[in-house]
Amino acid sequence: MIKIAVDGPSGAGKSSLAKAIAKQLGVVYVDTGALYRAVGLYILRSDIDPTDADTVTGQLNNITVELKFVDGVQRIYLCGEDVSEEIRTPTVAKYASDVSSIGAVRTFLLDTQRNIAATTSVIMDGRDIGTVIMPDADVKIFLTASAEARALRRYNELVKKGASVSYDEIFSGMQQRDANDSGRAIAPAVPAEDAVILDNSNYSEEETLAAAMKIIKSGLEAAGKSI
Ligand code: C5P
Repeated sequence: MIKIAVDGPSGAGKSSLAKAIAKQLGVVYVDTGALYRAVGLYILRSDIDPTDADTVTGQLNNITVELKFVDGVQRIYLCGEDVSEEIRTPTVAKYASDVSSIGAVRTFLLDTQRNIAATTSVIMDGRDIGTVIMPDADVKIFLTASAEARALRRYNELVKKGASVSYDEIFSGMQQRDANDSGRAIAPAVPAEDAVILDNSNYSEEETLAAAMKIIKSGLEAAGKSI
């Protein structure tokens, strides 16, 4: 089995990269952010303050979150309902970021992630994959880029989809999420000691993929595995 961890801040392009690698290597791609987003969506729908750790923790008994793979593509279910599209809004992202700093939420989602990692060859992306979820991964990549480059990419992506957004709004939202995610006490988004840091501020998607594949090839070789 092959295990690849991709961590890094929002908007670095983790999911596009991990999807492309999964396709090349024929392994399952797991987007762990979707799990936090599903919990965030539940809290949003319930009209609960996502920073209120006690109230959020008290709700976890009522929540079921499942990942299913349809033709190799991940779908996410919240209490039996497919919410794969609904979780992709900036509001849900903010709720996800807030609830993800609550220890009980991370524990709640731990087994789902570890069970997948234990049973199949995967490339998983998130914030703590190399440090907490798959500390034994064969290859760990920490994908990063300057906040400006990441905000600009997100802005272009949303504009392309027809959304009316401002760059400044996205840039400040991104900075806020960065501070939340890397500054929190539990599972902060920091590189594992044995992660390779890939800064793609000046790379195209193709260049990022080529650089990552190089890292993966040499990591798998070192682990005595071939692709
Ligand atoms: O990656 P994505 O933007 O979908 O993640 C949403 C939020 O979930 C992030 O801002 C982060 O706070 C949280 N997250 C996390 N640990 C992960 C994946 C995501 O804390 N492994």
